[in-house]
Amino acid sequence: MTTAHWLFGDQLGPHFLSPGEDGPDRDAPVVIIEARSVFRRRRFHRAKAHLVLSAMRHRAAELGDRARYIRADTYREGLREALGDIGGGGRDSAGKATVTVHHPTSHAALRLVRSLDGVSVLPARGFLVPHADFRAFADGLGGKRLRQEDFYRWVRRGHDLLMDGDTPAGGRWNHDHDNREPPPKDTRVLDAPTPYRPREDAIDEEVRHDLDRWERDGEVRFVGRDGPRRFPASRREALAALRRFVEHRLTGFGAYEDAMLAADPVMSHSLLSSSLNLGLLHPAECVEAAEDAWRAGRAPVNSVEGFVRQIAGWREYVWQLYWYFGEDYRHSNTLGHDAPLPDWFLELDADAVTARCLATTLAQVRDTGWTHHIPRLMLLGSHALQRGWDPEAVTDWFHRCFVDGYDWVMLPNVVGMSQYADGGRMTTKPYTSGGAYVHRMSDLCGGCAYRPTERVGDRACPFTTGYWAFLHRHRGLLSGNNRMSQAVRGLDRLGDLDELLRQARAAGDAPP
Ligand code: FAD
Repeated sequence: MTTAHWLFGDQLGPHFLSPGEDGPDRDAPVVIIEARSVFRRRRFHRAKAHLVLSAMRHRAAELGDRARYIRADTYREGLREALGDIGGGGRDSAGKATVTVHHPTSHAALRLVRSLDGVSVLPARGFLVPHADFRAFADGLGGKRLRQEDFYRWVRRGHDLLMDGDTPAGGRWNHDHDNREPPPKDTRVLDAPTPYRPREDAIDEEVRHDLDRWERDGEVRFVGRDGPRRFPASRREALAALRRFVEHRLTGFGAYEDAMLAADPVMSHSLLSSSLNLGLLHPAECVEAAEDAWRAGRAPVNSVEGFVRQIAGWREYVWQLYWYFGEDYRHSNTLGHDAPLPDWFLELDADAVTARCLATTLAQVRDTGWTHHIPRLMLLGSHALQRGWDPEAVTDWFHRCFVDGYDWVMLPNVVGMSQYADGGRMTTKPYTSGGAYVHRMSDLCGGCAYRPTERVGDRACPFTTGYWAFLHRHRGLLSGNNRMSQAVRGLDRLGDLDELLRQARAAGDAPP
């Protein structure tokens, strides 16, 4: 009996089909299921829905007769239909499963595939480190705290990544010090070649048509704008984007990695996250291409190390922690934050916002479903944290509104890194700041109605007021954290704390 192989919509690259001990049968028929219920359950950004559907349909077109593309209400129904066509389902007379699937990327999808008779779950692909190796690494720490930096060095050694023998290539493990520059003065846009932009085709046109129809029929609701598609939807496009980044833009990646410019949202960032998360690219080929560029003298070590750290360090760490921390992690709420997200935020209503930094960032999310890591962490996430919004709702918002958002990547990044809801399992301190940080790292405070140095009054920067109000609210917890205790002591020097707290309360959930 034929053993078919099922591809989820984030398993679209060739490495999910290469045969081998832990792979599908050679030339196995492929099943791809477009489950409408996924879009009914959550109100996604329309550009994200467009990208995911376009990528799935592009993959089916590439595979031609080998693929059976099913449009169904649920995965269960889709699989039943596919197996009816291909011939299969259940187990053959020797007890062999008739469908294989690689370990999916969410707890819910893993539960689903494990519950289906005749479906055999193969190990995960698309990451550098197998789960068992990570578990051995984590368990081997013998009670010592899990730290991203230790994990990252272990991956570099284990994969011989950017290494010269036993020592880190370029003489240092960590080039963060060179990679935290504020933006160059008097510069509106970085002097970097433009990123790769895909060209839409007939598949995109069909996707747009379907999304319009679903919306018209009232079946699904989206948020955000679905302008021209900006992110790769096929392997060919993803490879072109990777090549363009490594050859033309990697050089400038490092220095301004954490900086923000109002008129240049992308700066030197790679825009590769959606391609990696759709499975169109393998992380190994990205970091190897960057290392090759350094060895050939085409990119400086700080940029290459910074990029390798993001992928082999952060991305891989986040993936591992998602499984290591388990299902209940999503409900973590150490700070007891329970305020609902206000409508202006849910609707990506950038025009309602006065604070220029937040308005600019929210407009980027509304228009593209993407901003780089610092606006996510230090503007959107920080604002949510300061206002005490429910971390689970914040996680859901990020998941729905970002083209690269998936359960596995959201939980550690939002619950842990951005909202400190796990009380410090992921990071050693909450990431939030007053307006001074935003002012130093961006040009967003120029022309703003607020002043980063003012914490009370009409021109008080909402981030500055919000920062002190946050420290005050969690003084008890944070004064015991040695990375925060000095900041907390700063509260004692504020002569206007009562007024500041009144102002923070009065702001409520109104747009800042
Ligand atoms: P670059 O800056 O060019 O970095 C290169 C690559 O490194 C990225 O493509 C990405 O694959 C990887 N990377 C870097 N940091 C992380 C990280 N913390 N977690 C996972 N991968 C990382 N990334 C997502 O892929 N999906 C998300 O939904 C997501 N949500 C985030 C939410 C918050 C609150 C924060 C703080 C970060 C989030 N990130 C997420 C990480 C990071 O912001 C994005 O990966 C990055 O901005 C994508 O743009 P880029 O491809 O140009 O990245």
